[in-house]
Amino acid sequence: MNRRHVLLSASGLMAGACVQSPVQPPSPPRPQLPGAPLKISEGRLVRITVCTRPFRPAGPRIERELFGEKIVVHNYGHGGSGWSLSWGCAEDAVALAQPGEATSAAVIGAGVIGLTTALRLVQTGARVTIYAKDLPRETRSARATGVWSPSSRIGLRSAVSEGFGDTWERWARSSYQTHQHYIGSLGAPVEYVPFYSLRSHTPPPGAAAQRDFLHLSRRVRDMMPRGRSLPDEAHTFPVASAWRSLDMAFNIASYTDRLVRDFLAMGGRMVRRSFANRTEILGLSEGLIMNCTGYGAKALWGAEDLAPVRGQINWMPPQPEARYGLYHEDVYVLSRGDGVIVQYTGPNDDYGYGIEDETPDREEMRRAVATVGALFTDTLT
Ligand SMILES: Cc1cc2nc3c(=O)[nH]c(=O)nc-3n(C[C@H](O)[C@H](O)[C@H](O)COP(=O)(O)OP(=O)(O)OC[C@H]3O[C@@H](n4cnc5c(N)ncnc54)[C@H](O)[C@@H]3O)c2cc1C
Repeated sequence: MNRRHVLLSASGLMAGACVQSPVQPPSPPRPQLPGAPLKISEGRLVRITVCTRPFRPAGPRIERELFGEKIVVHNYGHGGSGWSLSWGCAEDAVALAQPGEATSAAVIGAGVIGLTTALRLVQTGARVTIYAKDLPRETRSARATGVWSPSSRIGLRSAVSEGFGDTWERWARSSYQTHQHYIGSLGAPVEYVPFYSLRSHTPPPGAAAQRDFLHLSRRVRDMMPRGRSLPDEAHTFPVASAWRSLDMAFNIASYTDRLVRDFLAMGGRMVRRSFANRTEILGLSEGLIMNCTGYGAKALWGAEDLAPVRGQINWMPPQPEARYGLYHEDVYVLSRGDGVIVQYTGPNDDYGYGIEDETPDREEMRRAVATVGALFTDTLT
């Protein structure tokens, strides 16, 4: 029976024209979620990047200090949440600075915190120069995963001040709103991507972190689209259970470029300069200094409460035909415009704590790639 015959039979147009056994409608095609397979293998590795999260048990330091006539405003210590919380923290830092129209200001640091602080400052009419040892694409910020993670290693329950949760929520809500402005912009600096949480089996009670990391995401859950569990027949992953949601992702390369362009277009200046100590910084001609040096604040300002938390990303070539992310057995994968990243996140937030070494760990890469590569073994090329 040809296709037309089937259609006519199914629509009843041939009823009575001939006697045949009832036609079975074809079974619906199996959905092809998640879409094009990700090609993850050691042979496709293009680079490994490592960076240090600037973790502060008490949460980010956003404070004003006076050194003679110089005003210093600190904005550092954002742990694993710097990209996510950047705008809200920048607003608080600039409010503390109280710049006037002709204020001449120095921002030390060109990571995401320096760039967003400088942008908020230049918008007040101040004359702003960014001074930094590493320019934007060389910073640790440029090596981040690039996902909305506002509560990742943001503080310890036992060390934050009372009311920190409310402050954090204000930063998170304000930052989220600003990130939205970049959706749909050239280069997609911010976008929503489908995200799959996959489980092969019911997880054993995982090793809990020894430190009492704060987890505050629940307070802003209303901002993100809701996820749902996928029935087995609705996806093609070889796992026992799958959960689908949407994640807000930052394409770090294009977001960084956009922040730099906006800052320069508003009259900002950027100068490469390394400072050996804070005396050198206080010797700058600007009366207002914004300290956005991330983990660098430990050496520069004696910020002994800063702890390094190491993180490593393994990079595969970009796959524009497969833009989604997934999490499986402690490995995080995100297909971004500038590459597919594969990151072992460890069993809990203690992973990488206290490690300053930024040397690539090839064994960690091999394990991560093997874990998630196995989800797509039939499709590797
Ligand atoms: C693996 C990994 C993944 C991450 N993923 C995410 C994520 O998905 N989402 C998220 O929100 N956050 C994420 N983070 C956290 C985020 O990257 C950080 O919180 C953020 O980058 C901190 O930004 P920053 O501008 O304070 O520091 P940095 O990016 O380190 O910038 C510091 C700046 O200060 C300058 N500086 C320092 N010392 C000196 C000196 N002596 N003289 C002159 N200049 C100096 C540096 O050159 C640099 O320009 C991740 C972090 C890691 C390690």
